[in-house]
Formats: sequence, structure tokens, C-alpha cells
Amino acid sequence: MSKNKSSESVKVVVRCRPMNEKERAAKFERVVSVDVKLGQIIVRNPREASASELPKIFTFDSVYDWNSKQIDLYDETFRPLVDSVLFGFNGTIFAYGQTGTGKTYTMEGNQQYLVRASYLEIYQEEIRDLLSKDQVRRLELREKPDTGVSRSHAIFVITVECSELGVDGENHIRVGKLNLVDLAGSERQTKTGAKGERLKEATKINLSLSALGNVISALVDGRSSHIPYRDSKLTRLLQDSLGGNARTVMVANIGPASYNVEETLTTLRYSNRAK
Ligand code: ADP
Ligand code: MG
Repeated sequence: MSKNKSSESVKVVVRCRPMNEKERAAKFERVVSVDVKLGQIIVRNPREASASELPKIFTFDSVYDWNSKQIDLYDETFRPLVDSVLFGFNGTIFAYGQTGTGKTYTMEGNQQYLVRASYLEIYQEEIRDLLSKDQVRRLELREKPDTGVSRSHAIFVITVECSELGVDGENHIRVGKLNLVDLAGSERQTKTGAKGERLKEATKINLSLSALGNVISALVDGRSSHIPYRDSKLTRLLQDSLGGNARTVMVANIGPASYNVEETLTTLRYSNRAK
């Protein structure tokens, strides 16, 4: 696969959420700037921190600031992928980042929008098979009474079948699959003092997130003959929707405030490497 082709098929974008009520009330300093024109995220040194190697500048395919709306991400970044699914290709959208930075917000708003849009377009084009219940599967987050919501990857799979009359006079079915992946929070669990089952869970999450990063950077690089899909359940499950003719978008979600600066940098480095 040539460099150009693979960089078209894998996009990495960053979205920074707004300050929340608590952060505003506590007057946290905003250390993240977003240059939409240049596609850059700039992370400044927090005033309270001693000398460090900041500021850092990271460049991505697109960046979205706290004023960005779901429709902005959809029109510019998700629509080409969704369109290709309607043409029978597979596609995957990931939301990556620390807990509380807007992964679910980004994916859910779009889930609703994407599902509705697919239905609408299918209706309008009078495609025979609509998304039926058994084709739409959601892996629900499991509730654990002791630890709250378990830290898992939520994968929403939409399969679109489109029946067409071919030049041979026969009906042909095109099948495209869209995977919407709300990844488990990327924050390092050692910091939170996780033990036992939670630590095991955290170790698995770290493994699968780094396996995902390795697969995406191998795809972007385009020169690797070996793509390490088999290194995690997540990448194995998504193997038919990552690479080849499939399109991939990775949305890295970050927070703007100074106390998140370390996790923000970790997320930006991970996503930058993925590109
Ligand atoms: P995550 O899934 O990464 O843990 P959430 O999607 O649950 O984070 O977002 C955390 C909180 O921030 C939620 O209350 C959500 O509504 C809010 N939020 C996240 N991103 C945005 C945004 N871009 N604009 C407005 N509110 C946001
Ligand atoms: Mg979430």
C-alpha cells in the first residue's frame, strides 16, 4: 500500500472539550490551544508547574476546539467514511482518550446521527434491506456493583446491505460494515492505585490500546508487510475493518485544563504516533 493511499484511509483528529462547571468554578488555567487552520494542538506549560519541555505542538489531519459541534466532525471527518460503508466498504471510528474527555459524547451523538442518516439515505434510495435489529448489535457496558461501570471498549456495529441490479440482470448484494468504537479510558491505572481484578482489567486495557496503536501506525506507515492484528481481541475483532479497503478515523479526545496536562500529552503522543 502506498503512503498516500494509507494516509487517505486512516485519519487521526483531535477534539478538545470545553471546560466544565467544576473546572470553571475552580478557575483552572486552560493549557490547550487549538489551531483549526493549521490542524495543530498546542499544549502550554501550566503556570503552577516548574520548568518543563512545554510548549508542545502536535499536528493532525483535523483538530476541533470546544466550540465544535457534532455536525462539524460529521461533515468533515466522518461523512466520507460513512459514504464508503454505503458503497460496501468497511469502516471504523474510534474515540480514544482519558475518561471524561468526551469519547462517549463524540460517539453517541454521532451514533444517533449516523444511524438516522443511514436509514434516511437507505429509504430515499429505496434500498431493499434496512438495518434490521439483529444486524445492529451493541456490546453494552456491564455494570459491576462493586466497581461501578467496568472499563470496557463499547463497539457498536452497523451492517448495511444494499441490493443492486447488476449489468448481468441479477441482483447483487453489497455489504458494508460500520464500527463505532468507544474505547475504554486511556488513563494510566497505576496512578489510581488499582489492585487485584481492577489492575488486571487495566493491564488488559493498556495492552489492547497499545496493540491498536501498533496496528494503526503499521497501516499508516504503509511499508510494514506485517500488521499485528492478532495481538489483541480488539484488533482481531476489527481486522476486516482496519486496513485494506477499509477507512479508519481515530478521534483523540482531550480536556483543556492544566491538571490534565500529563494525560493530555500522553493522548496526543499516542495519536500522533498513530499518524
Ligand atoms: P468519556 O466518554 O471520554 O469518559 P464523556 O463523553 O462522558 O467522556 O464526557 C464527559 C462530560 O463532558 C459529559 O458530561 C459530556 O456531556 C461533556 N462533554 C464532553 N465533550 C463535550 C463537548 N465537546 N461539548 C460539550 N460537552 C462535552
Ligand atoms: Mg465514556
